[in-house]
Amino acid sequence: MEQTVYCEGCGVPLQSEDKSKAGFLPKSAWNNEQVICQRCFRLKHYNEVQDVDYSDDDYLRMIHQISDTNSLVVKVVDIFDFNGSFISGLQRLTGNNPIILIGNKVDLLPKSTNRNKLINWMKKTASEYGLKIQDVYLVSAVKGYGFDEVEEAINTYRGEKDVYVVGCTNVGKSTFINQLINRTSGIKDAITTSYFPGTTLGFIQIPLDEKSALFDTPGVVNRQQIVHYVTDSDLKIITPRKEIKPKIYQLNAQQTLFFGGFARFDFEKGLKQSFVCYFSNELMIHRTKLDQADEFYTKHVGELLNPPNRESLEMLPQLTKQTFKIKNEKTDIVFPGLGWITIPEGGITVTIHAPKGIQLSIRPALI
Ligand code: GDP
Repeated sequence: MEQTVYCEGCGVPLQSEDKSKAGFLPKSAWNNEQVICQRCFRLKHYNEVQDVDYSDDDYLRMIHQISDTNSLVVKVVDIFDFNGSFISGLQRLTGNNPIILIGNKVDLLPKSTNRNKLINWMKKTASEYGLKIQDVYLVSAVKGYGFDEVEEAINTYRGEKDVYVVGCTNVGKSTFINQLINRTSGIKDAITTSYFPGTTLGFIQIPLDEKSALFDTPGVVNRQQIVHYVTDSDLKIITPRKEIKPKIYQLNAQQTLFFGGFARFDFEKGLKQSFVCYFSNELMIHRTKLDQADEFYTKHVGELLNPPNRESLEMLPQLTKQTFKIKNEKTDIVFPGLGWITIPEGGITVTIHAPKGIQLSIRPALI
């Protein structure tokens, strides 16, 4: 049997069969002194990043290399997609290294959001995922909010160690790193315009001082992120761009709300109350009677109920339903990647329809 040889750059197994896959090395280059895959070669010699088909496992294997280091791990999550942007098994992948959690995109939250409640919910959820974290910080990577505290925390927790920044795709990891670099060195858009040379771990290395560096790691794909099931044009509509303006719907039992064609909220039982919906300002919400909702969806999804549109509908997993008995007043039902609904009075039964695989959660209301 042939022996597996690993890229000295990024550690993926080398192969000469498929150019589009990770670890490709032309046959002619196998006898070179240093065997690195074509992607690392281009990164090293031309500062050029080549897209290759990494499987989800390839990314996780790379992140796992952090467990052999003595470093600080900075995990970036999207506060709008907290469950979706969690890397499962991160504790195992990063070993005993301390972890700080960064909740990004705080600029999108209404001003009245109770930040402490958000932080407490993030800490609790992280612990439910089996992650031991040192602390949580809320930032806006785009606007630069919260970076004084984050810089101080990174410096305190890292001492002289390296820093590994990890996160799922689309959480704003690149924007976060660029903001950090910009603040310390004045360089703008460092990791999107001119890539720093690849390193022995295949991560992008940005020197912090003579002895240590910050590493950007590949964005991990979490199949629970709604971003993987929508087109770019749908994403523009469902992702809030500006501070969210809540929309209020006074509903009686047996009424339904549709959030485009992505999700549905059936108010089954309970007293009339005003539900507060926190979603992208561009996402249309429609109200119908519960007993007509199935038919309404079948008839209008992809048209009146959009996004998704007719074409992108094919990418979306089927909606599946889950019933919740909400006892407490002031409770949020969270749709990762889309938004949340606040139930003001509690004592009600609701059924939520959401794309299969998207994990709903319940928390004390943030507002
Ligand atoms: P990455 O895939 O994790 O590296 O994410 P990017 O840095 O490319 O950002 C993904 C998307 O989130 C882009 O559309 C960014 O403009 C947006 N984004 C990143 N940071 C923020 C933020 O602080 N606030 C808002 N509103 N959007 C952000």
